[in-house]
Amino acid sequence: MNNIRLSANENPYNTIDKKSLAESIDSFEFNRYPDANYQRLRNAISNISHVSSEKIITTNGSDELIQLLILAFSNPSENILALEPTFSEYRKIASYLQRNYIGLKPNKDLSLNTEELLKAIKKEDPKIIFLCTPNNPTGELLSKDFIKGILESTNAIIALDEAYIEFSSDNNLRFLDEYNNLVIMRTLSKAYGLAALRIGYGLASEELIKALNNCRMPYNISGISAYIATNALNAIDIEKYKALLMHEKTAILKRFKSLKIEHLDSSSNFILFKLKDVNPLYEGLVDQGVYIRKFKEKLLENYLRFSIGTKKENAQFIKIVEDVVQNENN
Ligand code: PMP
Repeated sequence: MNNIRLSANENPYNTIDKKSLAESIDSFEFNRYPDANYQRLRNAISNISHVSSEKIITTNGSDELIQLLILAFSNPSENILALEPTFSEYRKIASYLQRNYIGLKPNKDLSLNTEELLKAIKKEDPKIIFLCTPNNPTGELLSKDFIKGILESTNAIIALDEAYIEFSSDNNLRFLDEYNNLVIMRTLSKAYGLAALRIGYGLASEELIKALNNCRMPYNISGISAYIATNALNAIDIEKYKALLMHEKTAILKRFKSLKIEHLDSSSNFILFKLKDVNPLYEGLVDQGVYIRKFKEKLLENYLRFSIGTKKENAQFIKIVEDVVQNENN
């Protein structure tokens, strides 16, 4: 039996037309360096994002963009803020670059402590604030009013991570023209189903994009990845995948409800849920080759996160959940 991977919030479907990909590889020049500015890739991203290519930087996954943001806009020992629990790479990359990462604790129900942020901005003088919407791992969508308020309250760079925004029904592009301290972070790894290619992108004013490019390694994305994404992007109908996944999400949540499993409301393709003891389920799943996400941090010790898979994968996942949870309750 193949392993079922519901741990990394990927699109479980293949989004690429592999036949036309194989044909297009025929004319790819492996002996040449990629275009140093990735102009064709940036044009393709401009096409899907409706932001002009001068306001786009392409990076080796949005992981690389986190590193570039920290290098471009902060110095060692300066403060970087984020609302926890959130994507762990902000802390990890800030720490190895010797910045001072401050994660603000959430409310009791794990909702992000947005009220504390304004106070922390005054107190800590951060150079960068990472805000993730929808937030990984809770799925919470930050309100426009909150984001606007934060953009107006500080000169710090607001790194707004929209890695999962395609799964929600709105985005924050409208703020790009208004605020020159905003960088929107996006990726082709999630809804677009291209995680293996390692392509992320940033959207910001030309001035901020220039500053980020100054810290970027030449040829930061492999030529073949850029080529495949450029050729494929326009044809990927993310609305189709979104509809499939949201339909499955509704079905799973119905089952969770009948099992009385407590979960957070999610605006994305993953769900964080709570159990008294996560180990029997986690281990029961691993035994049958189903992988979901367990967390090391104390705050999340009673929680597990899974991403919505294909119909077949979800059926296998739910079957194990039902077996283990019913067993635990008897
Ligand atoms: N931001 C968030 C919130 C994520 O969850 C992830 C992937 N887990 C990333 C950024 C990085 O994605 P990638 O490097 O594949 O673009």
